[in-house]
Amino acid sequence: MSFYPLLKEYETLDLAGRFAAATEDDVRRAIERTTPTFDDFLALMSPAASPLLEEMAEKANRLTAQHFGRTISLFTPLYLANFCTNHCVYCGFNSTNKIHRSMLTLDEVDAEGAAIAATGLKHLLILTGDAPAKTGVDYLEACTRILRNHFPSVSIEVYALTGEEYVRLVEAGVDGMTMFQETYDEVLYPTLHPKGPKSDFRFRLDAPERSCKAGMRVVNIGALLGLGDWHRDALMTGLHARYLQDRYPATDIAVSLPRMRPHAGGWEPASIVSDRDMVQFLMALRLFLPRVGITISTRESAEFRENILPLGVTKMSAGVSTAVGGHTDGTSDGEDTSQFEISDDRSVDEMCAALRARGFQPVFKDWQPFDDAGGAS
Ligand code: SF4
Repeated sequence: MSFYPLLKEYETLDLAGRFAAATEDDVRRAIERTTPTFDDFLALMSPAASPLLEEMAEKANRLTAQHFGRTISLFTPLYLANFCTNHCVYCGFNSTNKIHRSMLTLDEVDAEGAAIAATGLKHLLILTGDAPAKTGVDYLEACTRILRNHFPSVSIEVYALTGEEYVRLVEAGVDGMTMFQETYDEVLYPTLHPKGPKSDFRFRLDAPERSCKAGMRVVNIGALLGLGDWHRDALMTGLHARYLQDRYPATDIAVSLPRMRPHAGGWEPASIVSDRDMVQFLMALRLFLPRVGITISTRESAEFRENILPLGVTKMSAGVSTAVGGHTDGTSDGEDTSQFEISDDRSVDEMCAALRARGFQPVFKDWQPFDDAGGAS
C-alpha cells in the first residue's frame, strides 16, 4: 500500500474553484459532522469559514479536551549532527551552506542526554541531517541505546530509511518517528530538493507508512508550510494522516504544523501563513481528525503558542536548542550552526509554569516500554 495513488487523485483538485464554491452552510455542516469527510475538511479550510472561526474553536476545544484532557506533552530535540548531503534550498544545514559541521561522539551524546534528562524531560527527539556515511543507522542505533538509559521515549527525525532500518531502530528502542514531506507538490518538490537522496519524493512519502509497518508507536508527519501552496499542503497533510490512521490503528498518528522560519540560507518562503491561517488550519485539522496528536514547535512565539493551546495542540517542545551540542556547550540558538531560528526559547521550568497558569497540565511522560529494565522511570 502507499499513499501515493491517493495523492495523485488529488493532483488535479481545483483548489481555488472549490474554495470559491464553499459556502457558510458547508462549513456549518462540517462543524456539526461527527466524522468529517475530506470535503468537510476542505470547507473548514476555505475562506467561507472565516465568519465561523468561533464555532470551530468551540468544537476544536471540546474535541481536544475529550480525547486528550487539558494536558500538553513536552519533549525536546537533540541535534546529533549537522552533516548533510542534501541541497534543500530552504535549510541552514544545506550541504552548500558554509557552516561549521560536527557530530556528537557517543560520550557527548551521553552527556547531552544527561543534561536534558536533568531538566525532567522524559521524551527526546533525536535529529540529524541526511548523511548516512557519517550518521548511518549503526550510529543512530548506538545513540538510541545510550539515550534510552536517560529517557523512556526516544523518537527520531532523520532521513528516510528502509523498512528494515526502521525495524532495527525500533528494536534499539526508538518508539516514534517524525517525517516532514516538506511539500506534497510533486512538481515543485525537485526544485526545492535539487540534489541528494532527499530528492526521491516517493521514497520520502512512503517513509511514515514503512515506519508504521515496522512497529513504530508514534508516527508524526507534516509539511513545511510556506514552501509552496500552503493550503494544498495543509489539506494533503490531513489526508495523509487520515490514510495512515485508517490503515494502522495500532500506531498513534500525529501532525506537526511548522511554518517557514529565517535560516542561514536566506531563502524566502513562497507563501506566507498568517497567524489567523495557522489557527484555522489547526482547528480544521482537529475537527477532521479528533484523535490526532498535534505539535506546535518553538518556531512559534511564546505568546502565539499559549494562545492556541485550547484549539487542538497536544504536544510542544521546550528547552530547545537547534545547534549540535547546544545543551551542554552553551551554543546559543541563532548562530549559523542552528538549523533555523527559534522564537520561543523558554526553559522547561518556564514552559511548565506558563502551561499551568493557563490551566494545562504539562506531561513529561506518558509511556514506558513494557519490558524496559534499563530505561528511565
Ligand atoms: S532539511 Fe534536512 S535534509 Fe534538507 S538540507 Fe536541511 S538537514 Fe539536510
